[in-house]
Amino acid sequence: MIDRDRLHDLHAEEERRFVADHPRSAELAEEARGSLLAGVPMPWMSRWPGAFPLFFVEASGARFSDVDGREYVDLCLGDTGAMTGHALPEVTEAICERARTGITTMLPSTDAAWVGEELRRRFGLARWQMAMSATDANRFVLRFARHLTGRPKVAVMDWCYHGTVDETLAVLDGDRVVPRPGALGPQVDVALTTRVVPFNDLGALERALAHGDVAALLMEPALTNIGIVLPEPGYLDEVRRLTREARTLLVIDETHTLCAGPGGCTRAWRLDPDMVVVGKPIGGGVPAAAYGLSAELAERLTPPMLSHDIDVAGVGGTLTGNALALAAVRRTLSVALREEDFAVAFPLAQAWADGVAGVIEEHALPWHVQRLGARAEYWFCPPPRDGAAAAAAIDEELEAFMHLWALNRGILLTPFHNMALFSPHHSRSDVDRHTEVFGQAVAALLGRS
Ligand code: PMP
Repeated sequence: MIDRDRLHDLHAEEERRFVADHPRSAELAEEARGSLLAGVPMPWMSRWPGAFPLFFVEASGARFSDVDGREYVDLCLGDTGAMTGHALPEVTEAICERARTGITTMLPSTDAAWVGEELRRRFGLARWQMAMSATDANRFVLRFARHLTGRPKVAVMDWCYHGTVDETLAVLDGDRVVPRPGALGPQVDVALTTRVVPFNDLGALERALAHGDVAALLMEPALTNIGIVLPEPGYLDEVRRLTREARTLLVIDETHTLCAGPGGCTRAWRLDPDMVVVGKPIGGGVPAAAYGLSAELAERLTPPMLSHDIDVAGVGGTLTGNALALAAVRRTLSVALREEDFAVAFPLAQAWADGVAGVIEEHALPWHVQRLGARAEYWFCPPPRDGAAAAAAIDEELEAFMHLWALNRGILLTPFHNMALFSPHHSRSDVDRHTEVFGQAVAALLGRS
């Protein structure tokens, strides 16, 4: 359907345009290559479209500007880290105030109880603690689950992503559990640590749990890291029933699905997990994450958490739960990610999805667009039922072109996805601009422009 020669020619033209438009970013990228591994401070920053990453100067609300003086509509929002919108004035004020009065002492600060209570109110779980990142939080809850159940394994969904947690970087190859393609230096054979099941497949989950060795099932309530794959009706209820029957703890990772509302899908869909993990945007950009546990688990965990050896238990960290993070979380949850914020963002995400769907329909493409709350994403295949079907439809060339085309026209999409995330700071004209740019890209690809 897509003429690859035309795609290559169009992409080459976009690459030239990108280089011509960003001389200052090119210089900074060259300089960074002298001291930074791969020229970037974090590996994924090499995954942006264009020959080098853009160097940004300022981000505010739903926009950012780069060192070449260009302004962008930000539909990536730091891959959810800035889902609130960038640089909220109230959060900035709280961060400055806390920075002036001391950032980290390894003592609890006066914001601690407020944060715990607010997380409890939003997600319904009885007890909470902090982590530095969602990765961290996931590592901790898996450790708790093995401790509490005495079982060695964890279960995850095929093509899931839960951060750089070793056990979760696993996929199915037929019936075998193998390291996820791209995972560097797996430290333990994932076949020993992990059972992997396809999303939306209750039979496979039941068989995986029947071994009796799975401490926890860690899952997103909808997959968001391999396109958006929504749960089929009744699926999550059955997941809960099966995990309970098997005495496997159910851990819901709401790091991305917080886009479904103030308490994520856990609250929006009335889920009843044993543990919840949430990260990324809760600190308004300041690194912070949290995990919650049911009252029963919290009671069982309290004695080890108060033990003399807790400092070497494999959970927590020196800077974790520091005063800066707690101040940022408190102010963020006070002024953002609330019902009224999502009430603005949801219709924008829906309008974006409608705009993309209109173009797909107009050109009769076998693509689809999916929305989950404030997040929406298009994918070059019909709606997949599980992660493997989504992964099989990845078209890296096409994806790279769509991202670069959008970037060259002032729109930043989330890398590794064709995803847009909406904050209350976006506007209808941002959505319309994307629809226009997306339509132009598709028309150019099909030679209909
Ligand atoms: N859980 C989910 C569902 C995620 O999507 C991610 C990151 N994309 C993480 C955990 C890890 O977050 P972080 O990189 O901030 O640790």
